[in-house]
Amino acid sequence: MNLFVLACVLIGVLALTAPRRPRLAQLTFLIVAAFILTNKVYSPQFVIWLIPLLALARPRWRDFLIWQTLEALHWAAVWMYLGQVTSGGVSQHNIDMPYYVLAVVFHMAATGYLMARVALEIWNPGHDVVRRHGTDDPQGGPFEGLPDRLRVDLLHPRPPYCHGGRRPQMPDVAVVGSGPNGLAAAVTLARAGLKVHVYEAAPTPGGGLRTAELIEPGHLHDVCSAVHPMALASPFFRQFELSRRIRLEVPDVSYGTPLDGGRAALAYRSLERTVAGLGRDGGAFGRLMAPLVQRADGVADLTLNQLLRVPRDPVAAALFGIRVLEQGSGLWG
Ligand SMILES: Cc1cc2nc3c(=O)[nH]c(=O)nc-3n(C[C@H](O)[C@H](O)[C@H](O)COP(=O)(O)OP(=O)(O)OC[C@H]3O[C@@H](n4cnc5c(N)ncnc54)[C@H](O)[C@@H]3O)c2cc1C
Repeated sequence: MNLFVLACVLIGVLALTAPRRPRLAQLTFLIVAAFILTNKVYSPQFVIWLIPLLALARPRWRDFLIWQTLEALHWAAVWMYLGQVTSGGVSQHNIDMPYYVLAVVFHMAATGYLMARVALEIWNPGHDVVRRHGTDDPQGGPFEGLPDRLRVDLLHPRPPYCHGGRRPQMPDVAVVGSGPNGLAAAVTLARAGLKVHVYEAAPTPGGGLRTAELIEPGHLHDVCSAVHPMALASPFFRQFELSRRIRLEVPDVSYGTPLDGGRAALAYRSLERTVAGLGRDGGAFGRLMAPLVQRADGVADLTLNQLLRVPRDPVAAALFGIRVLEQGSGLWG
């Protein structure tokens, strides 16, 4: 009982000090799991309480299946050990104490591990798969989307005195500039549970991505960027389902390059059509581009990400790297 009360106090501290209010399912999972671990009676069927709670608190298949495998072993161990105790049968048909204790240790370690993972996701909401997509607490009922009333910030304690006796709304992060990069950073940090302030010097947000009546009223112009070739491929915009939210015009000809003699090389969305239009240079262009087109996702992952990481598709990275080296060196042409 004392251990359970202590666990509840710790869960309360965790809830109050987390950067963002935990989801109801996370807290319920932690409390029920703590009860199961500290309760002096344990029945194997208690695990059934945890299954729906874990599915809501931490919907991840790998850990769920490992945990369930260990629970199934524990369940079998309980009955085989009881069989040995009650029937006094030989241990080759049942199991004796050391194996039973081992199964109990596995069961407790697996439950403790899941509790630790849920607690870590409460401390770092950016790793919570449910919140990663911008939802607050789907099972929270009336709590969903509500602001936090009480929060103890251990890492950034608020100053005790302030003007007017009210606590200042100090952000965790200040982002200067509301251009596409500033806004992307701000959204990512806010989703991770931090309080973010965006400061913008211009009268309207958006930076170089703004559209405004620059020349005469009623005529809209893009202030800087008008063409967004990687918008649909960008992992950041994919997360936001950009293509579902706004209508992007996709031209038939992606780009063109003027050539001598009034001719032009045109790049279409179809590689075959582009190759066909390039005449005798088409074959070389097709050989250059086809492997990259086939691995377009890998190329986008490489080129739209920071480079200090292992690429998800090393073959695409190698194909891309070889082509860049070839074109940027004396080998080209
Ligand atoms: C003429 C032109 C055409 C372009 N065309 C394209 C295109 O077609 N396609 C494409 O992909 N890219 C294009 N670009 C590039 C694209 O616009 C930029 O890469 C992009 O806007 C950079 O975004 P950012 O968030 O880093 O900065 P910005 O978009 O420049 O945003 C910076 C923001 O910070 C604000 N700010 C600056 N200092 C302060 C301060 N001290 N306090 C508060 N606020 C501040 C500014 O007011 C601005 O709103 C073009 C650029 C130019 C100049």
